[in-house]
Amino acid sequence: MNPYEFDTLAVRAGTARSQFNEHSEALYLTSSFVFGSAAQAAARFSGEEPGNVYARFSNPTVTAMQERLAALEGAEACVATASGMSAILSLAMATLKAGDHVVAPTGLFGATQQLFGTILSKFGIETSFVAATELDAYRAAVTPRTRLFFVETPSNPLTEVIDIAGVAEIAHAAGALFAVDNCFCTPALQRPLELGADVVVHSATKYLDGQGRVLGGAVAGAKVVVDEVLKFLRTAGPSISPFNAWVILKGLETLRIRMDAQSATSLDLARWLEQQPGVVRVFYPGLPSHPQHALAMRQQKSGGAIVSFEVAGGRERAWQVVDGTRMISITANLGDTKTTITHPASTTHGRISAEARAAAGIGEGLLRVAVGLESIEDLRADLARGLRA
Ligand SMILES: *Cc1c(COP(=O)(O)O)cnc(C)c1O
Repeated sequence: MNPYEFDTLAVRAGTARSQFNEHSEALYLTSSFVFGSAAQAAARFSGEEPGNVYARFSNPTVTAMQERLAALEGAEACVATASGMSAILSLAMATLKAGDHVVAPTGLFGATQQLFGTILSKFGIETSFVAATELDAYRAAVTPRTRLFFVETPSNPLTEVIDIAGVAEIAHAAGALFAVDNCFCTPALQRPLELGADVVVHSATKYLDGQGRVLGGAVAGAKVVVDEVLKFLRTAGPSISPFNAWVILKGLETLRIRMDAQSATSLDLARWLEQQPGVVRVFYPGLPSHPQHALAMRQQKSGGAIVSFEVAGGRERAWQVVDGTRMISITANLGDTKTTITHPASTTHGRISAEARAAAGIGEGLLRVAVGLESIEDLRADLARGLRA
């Protein structure tokens, strides 16, 4: 579809210069667009003449971001949204109706679980949550009303890896659409459309921006699906701000080198953590000790930039490790150049019952580190401080 390599597309796809021939992409901070005549206004509104009308529908800066992300995912089309959650909501609203059924793994991002499990179920859309790594469980969950398979891989915080090609086959045999949340790997490390997914969704808030500045999201993939999402978006309104789209557009230029660097540091850190006394287990797909290591190395370019580990001594000990660090940020966000540390059982997964947490394998001693761009020596020293505390 595109004549250039990934690295070239990351800096050049979607570029459309104005009459001023600016080199860096322009930011069109405008909500509406002016017409030359009443007749042109009518033609633009009816769709007879292509072009921008109103920023809830389209904006040149947003279009640039959409085209660049589509190029990187190898997608036919892409639509940007105000956040990752609004991308998932828009996909669901565009493709599902009352009575439809969804299959998804346990261990999805918390808000995504709530969206499917609580909010959409109020409107008659039921979701079956199945064991993430067991293909038979996906197959067994199919009903005559199944319309969507929705997965996220690797999972947060346990880094379980889901076989994208395997689920694609099951979804398509059931006549369902298959969507992958590609937030954790980004197209720099994993391209779900090439493995059989119909669409990918993104929280652009994470690695696509990459510097923790703005919220954003996107749906990319088959044009027939993206067109439906766009129809929902232009009416319902969870459209992205052109400013946020511009920040993300520029973030995409450094995505591949950030992902490679953050993955390399993560692998180093994961190997080092495995050697530390008091660390019971390390969860990282790039380690040979990871249960889906072979699958991860087949479908991802690297292990990614999230490393979780379990310390002996439960919550008390885990909190001591967090509080014993000096540099690493105590925050639940991820995908930033600054490394963050979280205790999932008391933060991101604090609202679910202790039994549900235990069933999901999220122990009281579990910690998640989202690795940034700092030096490996400083990160090791800071975690060592925490582990000694
Ligand atoms: C953060 C996140 C989301 C939600 O994205 P927002 O931009 O915060 O709305 C969805 N999926 C995953 C995997 C995430 O990490």
